[in-house]
Amino acid sequence: MIDESLDFSHEPNLTIKELIQRIKSYYKDADTDFIEKAYHFAEKAHCEQKRSSGEPYIIHPLNVSATLVKLKMDVETIVAGLLHDVVEDCEIAPTVIEKEFSPSVAELVVGLTKISKIKFRSRQESQAENFRKMVVAMAKDLRVIIVKLADRMHNMRTLQYISKEKQLKIAQETLDIYVPLASRLGINSVKGELEDLCLRFLHPEIYYRLAEKVAMKKSEREKYIRETVNMINDKLEEYNVKGEVTGRPKTFYSIYKKMQARGVDFDQIQDLLAFRVIVNNITECYKALGIIHSAFKPVPGRFKDYVAIPKVNNYQSLHTTVIGPRAERIEIQIRTEEMHEVAEKGIAAHWKYKEKGSGVVKANELDWVQELVEFNQDVESNSEFMDAIKNDLDIGGVFVFTPGGDVKELRYGATPLDFAYSVHTEVGNHCVGAKVNGKIVPLKYRLKSGDSVEILTSKSQTPSKDWLKIVKSSRAKTKIRQWLSKIEREKSREMGEEMLESALRIYSTNIKALNKKNEFKKSLEELNARNLEELFIHIASGRNHVNEVLERLPSIDFKDNKETQDKIESFYQKITKTAKKTAHKENAVIVDGLDDVQVRMARCCNPIPGDEIVGFITKGRGITIHTTRCDKLFDQDDNRRVDVEWNSEYNFKHPVNIKVITHDKPGILSKISKSINNLGINIRSAFAKSLPDQKGSFVFEVEVRDYSEFLKTVGVIESMEEVISVTRA
Ligand code: MN
Repeated sequence: MIDESLDFSHEPNLTIKELIQRIKSYYKDADTDFIEKAYHFAEKAHCEQKRSSGEPYIIHPLNVSATLVKLKMDVETIVAGLLHDVVEDCEIAPTVIEKEFSPSVAELVVGLTKISKIKFRSRQESQAENFRKMVVAMAKDLRVIIVKLADRMHNMRTLQYISKEKQLKIAQETLDIYVPLASRLGINSVKGELEDLCLRFLHPEIYYRLAEKVAMKKSEREKYIRETVNMINDKLEEYNVKGEVTGRPKTFYSIYKKMQARGVDFDQIQDLLAFRVIVNNITECYKALGIIHSAFKPVPGRFKDYVAIPKVNNYQSLHTTVIGPRAERIEIQIRTEEMHEVAEKGIAAHWKYKEKGSGVVKANELDWVQELVEFNQDVESNSEFMDAIKNDLDIGGVFVFTPGGDVKELRYGATPLDFAYSVHTEVGNHCVGAKVNGKIVPLKYRLKSGDSVEILTSKSQTPSKDWLKIVKSSRAKTKIRQWLSKIEREKSREMGEEMLESALRIYSTNIKALNKKNEFKKSLEELNARNLEELFIHIASGRNHVNEVLERLPSIDFKDNKETQDKIESFYQKITKTAKKTAHKENAVIVDGLDDVQVRMARCCNPIPGDEIVGFITKGRGITIHTTRCDKLFDQDDNRRVDVEWNSEYNFKHPVNIKVITHDKPGILSKISKSINNLGINIRSAFAKSLPDQKGSFVFEVEVRDYSEFLKTVGVIESMEEVISVTRA
C-alpha cells in the first residue's frame, strides 16, 4: 500500500550471491558464471584500494551493479557495472577486458572511463547542456549512460565521506548534468533519488528541515495514506475497475521546487502526498479518472493527459490533483503496468536481453516489451532503437573542449579550422595548426567528441582558397570567403588606380589634382560608382575602360584619335602585365617597397611560410630573413631591419630541421623516414645518434612548402608509439 517499488535508498550492501539471485528472478537463463567472473576480476583488481568511507573498494562496483539489476539490465551491462572502474583506477588495459570478457563489455568500460574524464566546470545553462550532449555523444552505446547514472547514484549516496568542497562540486554536477540526463532518458526512479541527494548536499538546511517535518508526521501520514487508498479502492470496485492503488510522500526535491516556484514556506505546501492507480488498460485509465473525479473534487487546471500525448521520453500517465478526504490537495497518477515500467526505468525498460557472444537479439517473451517496441514501430534492434533515442536527444555534432575547459558544439567532420573560426574570426584567419589532446595535428584533422583543442596562430598566416575545401561549418566558409574577396578587392583597387594614374600622365596630370577640383563627379555618376575606390575596381575588372573615365574629365581634352588610343592601350597592357607579374613573382618573400631584391633564408632559424619573419639588409648579399623568434635577432643592427611578408603566390619548398627523440628500437629510422615520405615530403638528409637510457636522437632535414606542412609532418612523427618528442631544430 505504501509504494516503495523502486526505492533505491536504505539498501544494505548486497553480496555477489544475493545479486545473482536477484538477476535470476527476472532472467533465469542469465550467464551467472560470467557475472561471478567479473566480480572476482574486479575484487582482485581493486584489492589494494579503499573507499573514502574506509570500506573495501569492491563495495562500490557491487552497488552500481545492484542498481543495474533493479533496472533489470542485461548481463553485459551488469558486468560492465562491476568492471567500470578497473581501467581508470587499476590501469587494466581494455584489451585485457576484451580478452577475458567480451569486446562489447570492453567497449562499455572504455566508454565509462572516457566519460569520467570529462571535467565539468561551468554552471551556465548552455554549457551544462553542451556537457550533457557531450556525455551522450561520447557514449557510443547508451548503456554506458545507464551504468554512469548507477555509478553516480552510489557516489552520491556515499558523498558524506569526502571533503565539503568536493561534495558541492559533485552534487552540482549531478544536478546539472546527470539529473537532466536521467530525466530525458525517462529513468525517473534514478532521477528522483539523485535529486533528493543533490538537495541534501547543496542545501542541507532545507533538506534536513523537510526531512524533520516529514518524519514528525510519519505515523499520521501513513494512516492518512491508508485511508485514502482504501477510499479510492472502494470507488473503483463500485464501478468494477480492477486497480492497484498506492500512496507515497513526494520527494523532498519536488517539495522544494514547489516551495521555490510558489515562493512559500514548507507549512504552506499542502499537497505532500501522491497516489498512483495502476490499471489493466488504457480504457480503464480514463474510466478510473472519471470515477476519481466524481468522488473527489478536482482542482481546476491540474489535469494532464500524457496518455494521449506522451512526454518526449515516452512517459505516459494521467495526472490530476483533487481535494482529498481531509480537504487537502492530493496528486493522483493513473497508468497501466506497461506505462509504469517505462515511467520508472525509462530507456532501461526497453532493453532486450542479449545472449552473450551469440550476437542474436532475443525478443523478450514479456508482453510489455512487445508493447514498448510497438511504441517505436520502426525499430528493429537494440542499436537502432538506441540510435533513434540518440537522435531524439538532438546530438547534432561533435563536442570538444577549449583550452579553458568550455565545451563547444561543432558539426560532424569539423576540423581545427572550424574550431578556430568558432572562437573568433581573427583566430581563424591566422590559424596555422592545432594541438589536439596536446599533440600537433594537421588542419584537415577531423575532431572527435572529447578532444581538447588548442589553436596555433601566426600573425603572418592568412586564409587561402584551399581552406574552403577543409572547413565544414558555414560560418568558417563565409569568413574565409569574406577575407578572400576583401583581398581580391584590395588588389583590384590598387591595379585600377595605377592604370588610371598612368593614363593621366599622358595629359600631365594625376588623380589627386583632378579629385581636388571634383572632376570625377561626372564619371562616378554616369559609370555608377559610389566612390573613387569603386571606380578603380571597375577599371581593373574591365567593367569600364580607362577611356570612359578620361572622356568625362572636364579639364582634359580627350580625343579618341588613333595616337592617344594606342598610347593608352599600351599603358593599359603594360600595367596589366606588371600587375600580374607582381602577383605571381617567384620570390618567397615580399619586401616592403623594394622590387627584385635578393632574398636569402637565414641558416640559423630556417624560416618557412607561416612563421613570423623579419628581414635584415646584409652588405652585398641582399636581405636575410629570420623568424621573429630567432636567437640571432639580438645580434642584428635594428637600423638594417626591413618589414617583409610571405608571398602567398610562392609555391617552392623550404628546408627545415626536425629533431626526433625516440625509444631505441630497431628499424625506427626507416619507419620514420617512410612515414615522412608517405606524406610526399622529401628528406634531404638524416642524422642519427644513440643517447643513454636506450634512446635515440635523429635530425631530419626535410623540404616543406609552409608551416602547416611542417606541422603535418611533425604530427605524423609524433603519432608513432616509439617517439618521445619532436621539435624543430
Ligand atoms: Mn565508479
